[in-house]
Amino acid sequence: MLNIEEYVDIKQFSSLKVGGQFRYFSIISKKEDFPSLYAIAEDDGKYKGVPIFVLGGGSNVVFSDEVINVLAVKIEIKGFDIVRESDDYTDIKVGAGEVWDEVVSRTVDMGLSGFESLSGIPGTVGASPVQNIGAYGSEVKDMIQEVEVYEIETGKIFNILNKDCKFEYRDSIFKNEAKGKYIIISVVYRLNKIISPSTALSYPGVMKFLEEKGIQNPNLKQIRGAVIDIRKSKLPNPKEKPNVGSFFKNPIVLNEVAYKILEEFPNAKFFSLKDDLTKIPAGWLIENAGLKGVSLGHVSVYDKNALVLVNDGDATSEDIIKARNEIVRIVKDKFGITLEQEPEIL
Ligand SMILES: Cc1cc2nc3c(=O)[nH]c(=O)nc-3n(C[C@H](O)[C@H](O)[C@H](O)COP(=O)(O)OP(=O)(O)OC[C@H]3O[C@@H](n4cnc5c(N)ncnc54)[C@H](O)[C@@H]3O)c2cc1C
Repeated sequence: MLNIEEYVDIKQFSSLKVGGQFRYFSIISKKEDFPSLYAIAEDDGKYKGVPIFVLGGGSNVVFSDEVINVLAVKIEIKGFDIVRESDDYTDIKVGAGEVWDEVVSRTVDMGLSGFESLSGIPGTVGASPVQNIGAYGSEVKDMIQEVEVYEIETGKIFNILNKDCKFEYRDSIFKNEAKGKYIIISVVYRLNKIISPSTALSYPGVMKFLEEKGIQNPNLKQIRGAVIDIRKSKLPNPKEKPNVGSFFKNPIVLNEVAYKILEEFPNAKFFSLKDDLTKIPAGWLIENAGLKGVSLGHVSVYDKNALVLVNDGDATSEDIIKARNEIVRIVKDKFGITLEQEPEIL
């Protein structure tokens, strides 16, 4: 039987160090725990009608300050197995509770390419498909083969193929129509044995970093090292400065909107996409709205990266939301663009 705790403090699970209490809380560490979870959900007792919230590492959620009426299920299912192999690739099945960056490190050590540009992202494997984690030109969707899920309503376990996950930029079926429907148990990723050029190498900052170290033809470990070092210089460590990474998505706008901004800021670096669209770095918008390093109550816009909001230690989730609203308002007034928040609010 699952051990269910009551009124569990949330801050310990939140990289932003905000949140009240989970009404109910449990840990799932093996697949065999699911029938027990199903029995609880089906039971007419006190858990009836209480929604299940799936918790990974808590690095992409803004938790509310009050008692949140959910059964929070923390996923700690482990596992790392090679399930298929060819001359070109290796498919590995990884448990949802594995720490993402430990998996990246392991695959890089195995000489498999694919994850190196995604080095240093906090959180768990189970959350990686949810927002289709991405960094330095890579998105995890390009490595995902299938996602093994437990369906909360039926208690069934099955696989969802990549094509059915509806992956988009920081988005998937798990954030939309399937939200609250599944618990991800494991993910099968396909990694290359043949080293393909890493997306991180198309970033001038990464190339400069490697050049300064005198590295000409970087191997996977050197690319991973460069990405981690650069991330450390731009992103605050949540243990010292509580945060959830990028607080806003990079807005995608019509070219004409971008051209208008470029008239005033001809040196700005925006990214042309297909279909007359342009991606504008949200951090650039916030910085050029004069907000970089600014304190908004107990919340500050990080002085090295305007995309990150930092809790000074005393912020409540209400403070975070107020600061977010203020930033959205000021950016909208200045550029006419409405920023969209990246982390989930619970
Ligand atoms: C300093 C910092 C840097 C970051 N950099 C990046 C970055 O470069 N790129 C990027 O994409 N993200 C980044 N993030 C955001 C975050 O690390 C990722 O979104 C990560 O995948 C969240 O993992 P988690 O385990 O902490 O998920 P949580 O925060 O616990 O959960 C996030 C969402 O996923 C759901 N979920 C979690 N596990 C499961 C599961 N097993 N089954 C079903 N649903 C589940 C939760 O219900 C929730 O909706 C950063 C965060 C921080 C703090």
